[in-house]
Amino acid sequence: MKTTIKNISYLKSLECTACGKYFDPFSIQTFSTCCNKPLNATYDVTDGLEKEVLLKRPSTLWRYREMLPLLDTDNCVSLGEGMTPMVSLNNLGAQYGFENLLMKDESLNPTGSFKARGLSMAVSKAKELGIKSCIIPTAGNAGGAMSAYCAKAGMQATVIMPKNTPKLFKEECELYGANLILLDGLIDECGNLASELAARGDLFNMATLKEPYRLEGKKTMGYEIAEQYQWDLPDVIIYPTGGGTGLLGIWKAFLEMKSLKWLSNDSKLPKMIVVQSDLCSPVCDAFENSNNHRGFKMSIANGLSVPKAFGLDMIIQVLKSSQGRTIRISDLEILDGVREIGKNEGIVISPEGAAVWEALKKLKKQKFINPTDKILLINTGSGFKYMENY
Ligand SMILES: *Cc1c(COP(=O)(O)O)cnc(C)c1O
Ligand SMILES: [Zn+2]
Repeated sequence: MKTTIKNISYLKSLECTACGKYFDPFSIQTFSTCCNKPLNATYDVTDGLEKEVLLKRPSTLWRYREMLPLLDTDNCVSLGEGMTPMVSLNNLGAQYGFENLLMKDESLNPTGSFKARGLSMAVSKAKELGIKSCIIPTAGNAGGAMSAYCAKAGMQATVIMPKNTPKLFKEECELYGANLILLDGLIDECGNLASELAARGDLFNMATLKEPYRLEGKKTMGYEIAEQYQWDLPDVIIYPTGGGTGLLGIWKAFLEMKSLKWLSNDSKLPKMIVVQSDLCSPVCDAFENSNNHRGFKMSIANGLSVPKAFGLDMIIQVLKSSQGRTIRISDLEILDGVREIGKNEGIVISPEGAAVWEALKKLKKQKFINPTDKILLINTGSGFKYMENY
């Protein structure tokens, strides 16, 4: 691989997350062919990196460039993603007795969701590796994000989405010039079709964890959380989980920051809470060992309507390592949450973000959370896209 002055990435290898087998990070990779599991990018931190370098860097996720996989900054496809604000939910906090309640508002990313992080990274890497056409199965936001970054990169985008996704998600993809395919069913069926079409050879599959780099984009949430908390992490992070890349990414960032000594080796990591819809909760089922198969239906929170998570083993591992837990929320609770946050905090929150707020209230009732805990909610997307369902 060429090394130029612009080659600032510490990228070292891709490894099978089951058996550790090495995959060449300098050629096109998808997932591990040995164990049929996601690949994990590793970085060589022997040269170290002072966290003070961040002070002079732009407020986008590219500020962590050494720990990102892009080799040549000329290939960076950016719309200004990352460094989203921490909003204090002080009105609701006072009402319910949470003294340290913050929400990281990912709706302020390009295309209105945190999917921008993963797809900015994955499309940039695809461009670097010479890929011209991409395909993605999506519950909504990932399709819009991939379409936008492909448009910016001059690449062709094909998006496969469930038919009964709100209109705006579809119109957005078409506006960015993508081919849009609508299917009956949930994202798993879209995923099957994406794999089939990709297997014919011309389209690169960007499905969650079926390529290694969306995770690398999403992990920047973890780096930002540490920076925005002045390197003193929250006690609890509550996260709306579909395919789980965000949760996995945040955790990966915490471990990487320990290896960089940006976090001390004995610093306590947050408890990670997985929130799902009671209409589709495969991660909760797996973690709780509950055999009662609930069947999977579309929730108003599209992003949580993911019947099969390719990274399920990894998500369970994070839940265990962090002493976290899982919570299910109903669509009625979500709608209550949307209104409560709108009225009290002036935010049109996504249904996924509302689910996280509802989960917090349940955790308090269950005494899992103390009033003085530093609590971080992740609002993964904008509520405006779902307005027709509110
Ligand atoms: C995709 C999505 C999720 C789920 O994200 P994962 O990281 O795949 O678990 C949650 N909320 C919104 C708004 C989404 O678009
Ligand atoms: Zn393997």
